[in-house]
Amino acid sequence: VRLVAAILVAVLGAVPLGAQQSRAADSVLARLEQRYDSMRYLRDQLEVTKARGTAANRWGVSRARLEAEYEAAWRALNDGFEEPAAARLVGEAARAVQTMMAAHRRSPNPDATSIGPETAPYLAGAASGSEAERRVDSLQRAIYADYAAGASQIVVDGDTLDRLTILGRLGTTEDRAHRERLWRALDQAWRTVNGHGEPDSRYARLLALRAEAWRGGVTPMARLAEELGLTIERAERWLLAGLETWRSTLPDSLVEPWDVYYRNGAAARRLGTRLSLDSIFALNDRFYRTLGADIGVLGVQYANLPGRVPVAYTTFGATGRWQGAAWVRMEPWVFTGYRIGGLDNLNELLHETGHAVHIAAIRARPAFNDWPDSDVFTEAVADLAMLEIYEPAWQMAFLGDSVALEESLRAKYAAIVFDMAWALFEYRVHRAGAPPPNRLWTEIAARYLGVKPHPEYSWWAARGQLINSPGYLSTYALGAFVTADLRAQAARRFGRIAGGNPRWYPGVSRALFRFGLTRPSAAVVREFRGRPISPDALLADLRRIRRPGRRRTTPTPRSRGRTGRTWPPGWRGARW
Ligand SMILES: [Zn+2]
Repeated sequence: VRLVAAILVAVLGAVPLGAQQSRAADSVLARLEQRYDSMRYLRDQLEVTKARGTAANRWGVSRARLEAEYEAAWRALNDGFEEPAAARLVGEAARAVQTMMAAHRRSPNPDATSIGPETAPYLAGAASGSEAERRVDSLQRAIYADYAAGASQIVVDGDTLDRLTILGRLGTTEDRAHRERLWRALDQAWRTVNGHGEPDSRYARLLALRAEAWRGGVTPMARLAEELGLTIERAERWLLAGLETWRSTLPDSLVEPWDVYYRNGAAARRLGTRLSLDSIFALNDRFYRTLGADIGVLGVQYANLPGRVPVAYTTFGATGRWQGAAWVRMEPWVFTGYRIGGLDNLNELLHETGHAVHIAAIRARPAFNDWPDSDVFTEAVADLAMLEIYEPAWQMAFLGDSVALEESLRAKYAAIVFDMAWALFEYRVHRAGAPPPNRLWTEIAARYLGVKPHPEYSWWAARGQLINSPGYLSTYALGAFVTADLRAQAARRFGRIAGGNPRWYPGVSRALFRFGLTRPSAAVVREFRGRPISPDALLADLRRIRRPGRRRTTPTPRSRGRTGRTWPPGWRGARW
């Protein structure tokens, strides 16, 4: 025994000091990550159980027990951060600790007197920072509460409808006069934000408070552009290029705002009749399975709770982790509130499943097993597969019917160009000396969306994010450029999606999805693309829309039968 001890002493003594320190650092970090992993698991299970409105999680553990265990885990992690050894870590270990600390701070504090309201993740965000920021936050909350109330019960022709139902009906209602009444009724919601457009409306006061709070710092709009490596000026040029290209596909004459949804809704009207509520969930499974992403195997869970989930979202019910050589316990949850099927809900469901298969592919150490560092990137990759539904070839393969490419592309880009218009509006309305919001929006809508002026309405106030998440709409607007560029590259590397492609999910998982917070998104995108993101793929895709009543100077593709498979020869396989 003594001999063994002597040998051990000799061996340990021979280990260089640096290696001993690094082993010690490893064990400090491993302990913290273990506690962090427990806290996250309990927090996520609790959040999902509350959102489902059930008394226990999927495994039968009661909410009360999850709550008690979460509180203990939160405190244990808190104690762990206070150990002096944690502060001495350097390099990646230090970054891991900082990342876990930030996530811990964002988690409900059991020792705080009140816990924030239950909201979809992106609506959360507590007041912090300066007095000006707190005033912004409190006015935003007040406006948002009135907006949500004003938008939830709108009476049109004796029917009580909500904002999203009205927007849906604007795309499907044949009767123009009825569409006009539907649209004008939305004024009840818009007025909660901007009154009658008077210079001291609540939104005007909010703009002034934001200017004060953001003075000398980076605006949220600039920060989101920076996530893509863009200056705000360059991001604005991209938006303008997208909007101008869209405008070039529209007739010269302007349309009424209550007709614009209908004009862009032809594909949804024709294909929507084939899409019942059950069928969109079945299609969702089938489509991702043909891409090599079996959502059953990946452990994705769905909760469709109409009336309980106002905005669809995806969240971690549990992060995955290595157990020996096996990866276990991933449980992404998709929450939706659908009463009906239809093309728009299919689009959104495939988008949410896009988030789910993304996070299911993350293979990172516990500290970095989370959403990536860029919302723009995260939203963009959720659409990688989804946008295929606007290709007539996909429609034939999955729906047994298709609409003409032009109608499909209008449906694909209508929402995106509106987001671009809103992003441009937000860039400009926050500038010193900007015109009043209604006049600014009227100009943007007429010039780029081809909509007749109605400056008497604050109809730009159609999205909640404009109130409580300034700049967030540019996540979608700029994300669309990222998605188009990444889709083009994925098609080049792994083959086109079309009717299915089992190489697709393994390919994009390896190249884009697996990192979590291990690497910055900007670096991941750049490496995959081999260059910074460019707006060209999106602009080229938009140009596939033909302008009505005008002949192109370039040869137009010949239609092949009535299926709408009208691939220009040069495009097929080359880009999409
Ligand atoms: Zn999303």
